[in-house]
Amino acid sequence: MVKVVKFGGSSLADADQVKKAAAIIKEEKERRYVVPSAPGKRTSGDTKVTDMLYQTYDLAESDQNFDKELLAIKARYDEIVFGLGLDFSLDYEFRTIKENFKNKAGRDYAASRGEYLNGRIMAAYLDYEFVDAAEVIRFDEDGTFDPDTTAKLMKKRLDKTDNAVIPGFYGAYADGRVKTFSRGGSDITGSIVAGAIKADVYENWTDVSGFMVADPRIIDNPESIDTITYRELRELAYMGASVLHEDVIFPVRKEGIPINIRNTNDPKASGTWIVESTCQKSKYVITGIAGKKGFCSVNIEKDLMNSEIGFGRKVLQAFEDYGLSFEHVPSGIDTLTVFVHQDEFMDKEQQVVSAIHRLADPDTIDIESDIALIAVVGRGMKSTRGTAGRIFSALAHANVNVKMIDQGSSELNIIIGVANQDFEAAIKAIYDIFVTAAV
Ligand code: ASP
Repeated sequence: MVKVVKFGGSSLADADQVKKAAAIIKEEKERRYVVPSAPGKRTSGDTKVTDMLYQTYDLAESDQNFDKELLAIKARYDEIVFGLGLDFSLDYEFRTIKENFKNKAGRDYAASRGEYLNGRIMAAYLDYEFVDAAEVIRFDEDGTFDPDTTAKLMKKRLDKTDNAVIPGFYGAYADGRVKTFSRGGSDITGSIVAGAIKADVYENWTDVSGFMVADPRIIDNPESIDTITYRELRELAYMGASVLHEDVIFPVRKEGIPINIRNTNDPKASGTWIVESTCQKSKYVITGIAGKKGFCSVNIEKDLMNSEIGFGRKVLQAFEDYGLSFEHVPSGIDTLTVFVHQDEFMDKEQQVVSAIHRLADPDTIDIESDIALIAVVGRGMKSTRGTAGRIFSALAHANVNVKMIDQGSSELNIIIGVANQDFEAAIKAIYDIFVTAAV
């Protein structure tokens, strides 16, 4: 049995947190490959090392003095090294970093040092081998991640070592230049390592005990989710539920490796299991609720639209021409509605409207703004009657007007559009009917 364990920034924010992480790692010999983030916030007002690195590099790039800022970063690491009682100096590393900053090695290189240095420290403290992610994670020239080359490099390298620390968040182009993933990308590194060596489990250690049924900023103390499928998670993550990076699923999904989200500050809690498929029923009919505010609907009407071949394509062409992706396209007999992100759409609104007129010749176009979309997700919905009925009666009781309904044929989710100002009330109503009323 092999486990890949990734620790997030808050789990490694200071020496005490690193000690907790190390104790977790040493508790099971299967925890053989460790992926650390950069030190995160120690308190809510604190700054993540990654952000400090970006700020420092910005000074370097504009030829300003950055000594003080770099020293503040070094102080964060020195404190960890000291707190761990390590006989280990980062002086040489920081001299190199300073030199490279002066030579404008790039923002990605700068940000990656957060994980790199934390990896060095973890490797020394655990007595694990250090494997630089730049050697084993490869990007194509155009900046896209190259999964095939990476899998080969990673496997070859890790086959030679029983225990290793591989820093998260970055890799490199073939010529060695460092490139990072998007923010929060250490999650992806963990997933890539797990996929490449075909680990049995990918454990992702963070500061919450897994996924919650709904956003704790909206629902007080929401129930947590024991088991969720990759597809359910995609739906929820896409709709704004954040614990894991959106792209984390792909490398492990291919290999059928489960992800276990765990809490470094509560290691006894079993957390959430993310699996390909399961016969375990979720505790409630729904697995989770998530949503986002800030959408616009563009309502297009044309008599006899339903018999006009190519109408939908022409309308969507207008959005494509202006580089806009659409979220949902519910349609009626003579109407078609396109949901888009308001902030992306706003500046191009009038151009898109005239493009639709030009391309599709509709009767009218009507735009509505400030709409929130809510996804109610659950593998259990397929086999339960009345789910939609319960949702809508709960919303009616809460005085929430439903503007749009979209149920995919997978029956995995129901998407509901409401006014932005009804967003919280709608989520509460749905949570209460399925969860509060069930306990
Ligand atoms: N340190 C990086 C960030 O803050 C990556 C990560 O922690 O996953 O985004």
